[in-house]
Amino acid sequence: PAAGELLLAVDRARKEFGGLVAVNDVSFEVKAGQIVGLIGPNGAGKSTTFNLVTGVLQVTRGQIHFHGERIDALSSREIVKRGIGRTFQHVKLLPGMTVLENVALGAHLRGSAGVWRSIARLNATEEGRLMAEAAQQIRRVGLEQHMYDEAGSLALGQQRILEIARALCCDPTLLLLDEPAAGLRYQEKQRLAELLRKLKAEGMSVLLVEHDMDFVMNLADQLVVMEFGTRIAHGLPQDVQNDPAVVEAYLGG
Ligand code: ADP
Ligand code: MG
Repeated sequence: PAAGELLLAVDRARKEFGGLVAVNDVSFEVKAGQIVGLIGPNGAGKSTTFNLVTGVLQVTRGQIHFHGERIDALSSREIVKRGIGRTFQHVKLLPGMTVLENVALGAHLRGSAGVWRSIARLNATEEGRLMAEAAQQIRRVGLEQHMYDEAGSLALGQQRILEIARALCCDPTLLLLDEPAAGLRYQEKQRLAELLRKLKAEGMSVLLVEHDMDFVMNLADQLVVMEFGTRIAHGLPQDVQNDPAVVEAYLGG
């Protein structure tokens, strides 16, 4: 997609869990080539919004379009196929398998369940192709020196980058990351930010869900701030940072 083209449009998305409104008619957009930060205190509804976009949860009402196509009724597998790659807030790697195997498995699953059935179905040619694609994405994120290390032996920051390599295997035009910087040390955050800048320079668009405002501040082109399910601010990072409602949400939260 051409830079600036509308990629993702979330239009008054709402999610209720029983009586709780986790996402309260939230709207925002991601344009091609942008990094958009979705931030807010714990419980704001960020992960729920993320799960609505990726088809893990269904909207109570509202609409979500990707590349002009309505996706809010599609399964997560269908959404991955259309070019939305994602990571999970709680890293779900197979710690005893190598970096290469983890990424190849992600490439093969492409968002679907049924791991063992999928592995059993692979023939040698398919496996070779998957390994080649996985190796390419591992080099792209700079983890090539760890290709044959067990995923569980990597530092947390490297595991997060491994997750990104796995998400890149479905050839996404939009990458969704849920709190990729959580729990990382300063230098690991710097390395992660560097990688996201590199991906952006390659034309990738990113929706970055983050609690850590400092991490997104120098990275995002646009910020969307949520509190108690509601969008309380949006715009350029420097404007949003000084918005009294945002300051209050972060101090109070
Ligand atoms: P965030 O990611 O911003 O911390 P979440 O989207 O995880 O926030 O949660 C928003 C609100 O919705 C919270 O009050 C949370 O307890 C609630 N919530 C999230 N998922 C569920 C669920 N599956 N069932 C019931 N309540 C949920
Ligand atoms: Mg969350």
